[in-house]
Amino acid sequence: MARKLAAGNWKMNGLSADLAEIRTLLQAPAPGCGVLVCPAATLVAAMAEACAGSFVAVGGQDCHAAAKGAHTGDVSAPMLADAGASHVILGHSERRADHGEDDALVKAKAEAALAAGLLPVICVGETEAERDAGETLAVVEAQLAGSLPETAGLVIAYEPVWAIGTGRTPTLEQIAEVHDAMRATLAARFGAAAEDIPLLYGGSVKPGNAAEIFAVSNVDGALVGGASLKAADFGAIITAL
Ligand code: 13P
Repeated sequence: MARKLAAGNWKMNGLSADLAEIRTLLQAPAPGCGVLVCPAATLVAAMAEACAGSFVAVGGQDCHAAAKGAHTGDVSAPMLADAGASHVILGHSERRADHGEDDALVKAKAEAALAAGLLPVICVGETEAERDAGETLAVVEAQLAGSLPETAGLVIAYEPVWAIGTGRTPTLEQIAEVHDAMRATLAARFGAAAEDIPLLYGGSVKPGNAAEIFAVSNVDGALVGGASLKAADFGAIITAL
């Protein structure tokens, strides 16, 4: 069975002063699940230092597919690892939309992350138009087929684009349908190792809906945006897992 994981994605939020939220989070007893927080690249080193030896792992939000070189403004996987990260989010829909990232690039980034010793958290999910057209499972399957590296040593986050930052979530049946399909696809590809891949749900997860989402078939945790910024909210979500 996959290890449960509560992951926070701070997106383009957070200054040094906001590390106080992490310090507050660390005052709680260590939970039974894994906890991951992914701040902007500027905060990875400081957050990793604040979390050293604690129950909170730190990750990046993206990395370049190359280890180093002439790529102004980019951050490589070895740089994130050097700064103290253990994970990196890849293929988030905001990267796919804002930066034109496609499945092949996400896969190349995932391979770079693995080579640097980072665990990739690969995001997939349909747009509202794709869901309305009945294409959800086909879209997610295609993203899994194209974005995943050749190993089961990763985390997957199902994030319906229309549920991100909107306060809207799929029904529990819709979440179960996608997560069950993802598990079956992964089992066909990776065999028994697929059972160990944490499948996170992301999109408007809050303290008030976390418990019911965590009870859904094949949901092993959450990738949380807005509600991960405050220790009280994220702590409540961790407790629900
Ligand atoms: P929200 O939790 O703010 O909807 O964001 C979800 C997300 O995109 C996490 O990666």
